[in-house]
Amino acid sequence: MEEIMSNYREAAELIRNAKSAVAFTGAGISAESGIPTFRGKKGLWSKYDPKILDIDFFLSNPEESWRTIKEIFYDYMGENAQPNRAHYFVAELEKRGVLQGVITQNIDNLHQEAGSSNVVEFHGTANRLICISCHEAYEFTTVSLSKLPPLCPKCSGLLKPEFVFFKEPIPEKAYQDAIALTQNTDLYLIVGTTGEIMPASQVPYLAKKAKVIEINIEPSTYTHTITDIFLQDKATLAVEKLESLLLF
Ligand code: NAD
Ligand code: ZN
Repeated sequence: MEEIMSNYREAAELIRNAKSAVAFTGAGISAESGIPTFRGKKGLWSKYDPKILDIDFFLSNPEESWRTIKEIFYDYMGENAQPNRAHYFVAELEKRGVLQGVITQNIDNLHQEAGSSNVVEFHGTANRLICISCHEAYEFTTVSLSKLPPLCPKCSGLLKPEFVFFKEPIPEKAYQDAIALTQNTDLYLIVGTTGEIMPASQVPYLAKKAKVIEINIEPSTYTHTITDIFLQDKATLAVEKLESLLLF
């Protein structure tokens, strides 16, 4: 117990003294907002087939893919999922000038909704749908998902969520921004990611000059490699403890 609290005290001290911290987040930070993770015991892949997020499968079976995509992402998003304390903590660190930005693998827009302004969406966003024919983009709230797949109002082309499907490349700007942020940080805060999704999983290894604090309910691929301080708790609880030490 004492050892655990000293972990938190050490982490709070690092945060207090940081000048250019960066957060790197995965599905775990949004789990307590009600959006399930992919991996893990209660993860979505124990219920759904990951092939529905394969770009080739999507293009040849858009209706089948869309039915699951809607259930996984769109039924949880919008009004339903709200940012939680961990998203607000990341935003607060940015407002206080401690944090330069957040690199997220999530596609749920919750960092932005919590007030973060420099958000690198490594895997794109579910918030917009793109027409694969004319490339027009639409806010998802303006598109009806009652008939699937949704089609472009302009040209009737297939609409695709603007997130990265399996076998699709990472958006070039997000990739470059993630590397630039990571190479210029003195404190890296990794929250809720297994570290198993390539190439995103490789980004934290570029934070060579930084101390690494990790929050997760279970060890990840980073825990015994680059993590200096491992805070093994749910993200909102870990943040609550940090906030009480930081007097936020
Ligand atoms: P993952 O699903 O592979 O793993 C989730 C991680 O979060 C695990 O390490 C788990 O131990 C941890 N975790 C679960 N609950 C937690 C909690 N309350 N507090 C702290 N940690 C918790 O997630 P990933 O590595 O981010 O990769 C999944 C990929 O799928 C990402 O690329 C992401 O784009 C996408 N995805 C996004 C969302 C979202 O946008 N919210 C949800 C599911 C999947
Ligand atoms: Zn179109």
